[in-house]
Amino acid sequence: MPSLNSKLPHTGETIFTEINTLAAKHDAINLGQGFPDFPMNGELIEEVYLAMKSGRNQYAHMNGVPALRKAIAEKVKILYGREIDYEEEITVTPGGTYAIYTALTSILRSGDEVIILEPAFDSYIPNVEINGATPVLVPLSLPNYSINWKLIRQHVTERTKCIILNSPNNPTGTVLDKNDIRELHDLVNETNIFILSDEVYEHIIFDELDNESLLKYKYLYERSFVCFSLGKVYNCTGWKIGYCIAPRDLSYEFRKVHQFNCFSCNTPIQYALATFLTHENEYKNLSKTFQLKRDLLASLMRSAGLVPLTSHGSYFQLYSFRNISGETEMAFAKKLCTQARVACIPVSAFYKDQTDNSVLRFCFAKKDDTLWEAAERISQFISRL
Ligand code: GLN
Repeated sequence: MPSLNSKLPHTGETIFTEINTLAAKHDAINLGQGFPDFPMNGELIEEVYLAMKSGRNQYAHMNGVPALRKAIAEKVKILYGREIDYEEEITVTPGGTYAIYTALTSILRSGDEVIILEPAFDSYIPNVEINGATPVLVPLSLPNYSINWKLIRQHVTERTKCIILNSPNNPTGTVLDKNDIRELHDLVNETNIFILSDEVYEHIIFDELDNESLLKYKYLYERSFVCFSLGKVYNCTGWKIGYCIAPRDLSYEFRKVHQFNCFSCNTPIQYALATFLTHENEYKNLSKTFQLKRDLLASLMRSAGLVPLTSHGSYFQLYSFRNISGETEMAFAKKLCTQARVACIPVSAFYKDQTDNSVLRFCFAKKDDTLWEAAERISQFISRL
């Protein structure tokens, strides 16, 4: 037998699979992994069916169906005021996570360092490590999970190749503001640092805030890979479709990796989305819909005894259980899953080294009935403790 020398010796199964498996076993309501449990728009499904029936069933263009890329460029112009060349700067990908992996793989070499703010979405660290690079971990500052730019500057070295930003943030729900943008500008100014900007929740942003997309800022965009997810916009996370926008030279390298990995994405889905992307109301209503859900779950959970932390965006809100139990996040999350039968994600799963702040991530992208039922189960569980 050849000896298997793991390329990712410190990486186990993703928390999402672990919690999904446990949730299924205990028939728990799944507020763990982020996905809506309500139906997506039937007209969009119809468009896919029409595309299939009209013969759009062979390989799509490697970089994405041109009509979809044109529609994305048009949307970017409306939302962020930037002219994007759809031929050279947009690549359609099987999801946002793939776009992030591909961007990192196209720039990282062994010995490079990548600044990652923790807690961080769980794919970032392994994506860096599999490329032989080193994650340099900088904690976000509690209680608001704000970015400590001074601390980041202390972690920059001549090996720093990239900084990963994620706004609206998964898992914390924080969003970048104009001051963060200024600090980012000062940090990268006259350096060779690239930026990976994960903006998959661009439209799920609350409290009248705007997405400070890096696409808005020319100097920042020139060194950025900006990654998006269409599954989050059209309530179809299982379609696994997203895209990366990056300047021409960066996209050129991105495509070298992409072309020998998945090569091209699902064809009929791209045609269907191309027609839908021009319907502004589809994405304009998302903030309102999800803000109501955030508020509903927060008020129910508060009554149950959990303390909501601030969430200005994404599908998620963090809740503190410090007043209720001294257990680790993982132990308490597992108890909630197996005994209250509600699944959530321990935030410690988003740190490389064990960090426990007694907070859990709950997904509120669910039917109101689901949120009511989940909160009721949690309330009963807590009252029995
Ligand atoms: N983005 C989703 C979440 O944070 C999970 C996606 C995945 O399972 N890889 O819940």
